[in-house]
Amino acid sequence: MNQPDPKRGLKVTIDPHRCIANAKCTRAAPGVYTLDEETGVAVLNDEDGSATVAQIFAGARACPTQAIIIEQYGRRVFPQILTPMWGDVEPGKGTDSA
Ligand code: SF4
Repeated sequence: MNQPDPKRGLKVTIDPHRCIANAKCTRAAPGVYTLDEETGVAVLNDEDGSATVAQIFAGARACPTQAIIIEQYGRRVFPQILTPMWGDVEPGKGTDSA
C-alpha cells in the first residue's frame, strides 16, 4: 500500500538575513544543508528529493537564529514562533520614515 508522501506541500525557506553561517544545520543534517561557497548562507540540497522530513527538521531545529523556515501548504510549521531579529520591522509599523 502506498504511504502518503510526508514531504507533500512542504516548502523550506532559508532567510539570508537570519543566517549567520555557523553551519549548525550542516552538522545536524550533513549533505542536506550546506553553506553556499560564495554567500556563506545555508542552502537546502534536495533537488533529488532524497532529504527526509527528519533531516529537514533536524537542521531547522539546530539553527539558533531560526533562519530555516518550514511551511506546509502555505502555513508555517517551524518555527512555531518566529522571534524578531534586530532590524526587523515591528508589527503595525511601516518602513516609511515620513
Ligand atoms: S544553522 Fe542557521 S544560521 Fe547556521 S548556517 Fe544553518 S541556517 Fe545559517
